[in-house]
Amino acid sequence: MYSCILSLIFSIMTTTDTATRTQFTVRELPYAYDALAPQVSEETMRFHHDKHYKGYVDKLNELLADLPYAGKSLEEIIVSSDGPLFNNAAQVWNHEFYFDQLSPTPQTQPTGDLKAAIDRDFGSVDQLKAQMNKAAAALFGSGWVWLAEDKSGNLVIVSEQNAGNPLRRGMKPLLCLDVWEHAYYVDYRNRRADAVVALWDNIDWKKVETRYY
Ligand code: MN
Repeated sequence: MYSCILSLIFSIMTTTDTATRTQFTVRELPYAYDALAPQVSEETMRFHHDKHYKGYVDKLNELLADLPYAGKSLEEIIVSSDGPLFNNAAQVWNHEFYFDQLSPTPQTQPTGDLKAAIDRDFGSVDQLKAQMNKAAAALFGSGWVWLAEDKSGNLVIVSEQNAGNPLRRGMKPLLCLDVWEHAYYVDYRNRRADAVVALWDNIDWKKVETRYY
């Protein structure tokens, strides 16, 4: 009985300890800042990673300091929050997902079950790319265009404004295009469509495949 009370006190102490407060860290790029040039310049990558993405991490941590989210994962925050907390949490997740799928030495085509699913749902990889390019050009304002797997196992293209993420719809994200102006304006000015077409050269389908299986 005595040890039971002790362990209860201990567990209360540890769960209210501010050291357990959730804080997120800035993840380094998995390649050099200039590695994706000329499709994405070093200047764009430095601003995109060091200013925009880092800014979302810093803001998220600032918001979490005053909220009871200890021990929650980024995904748990994304599906259970709204307003500034959701916006910053999702932008952190979205950017890490975006940077991770790019490579200076990508696998240039999907293979295996992912390739088969793309052919089944879009006709071909080129048709999938064309549809995602079209969705990126058509998205009004800032946002993301996603390839995701829905609850029935179908691959779908999802256009989301601002920080929107298909995790909120119960879908599994596979690939994303960042169509915020900060992702392309330095290199392509107003030519968003050209930036998106160029980005396919750096999409690593090996990485996308690991997300599908
Ligand atoms: Mn961005």
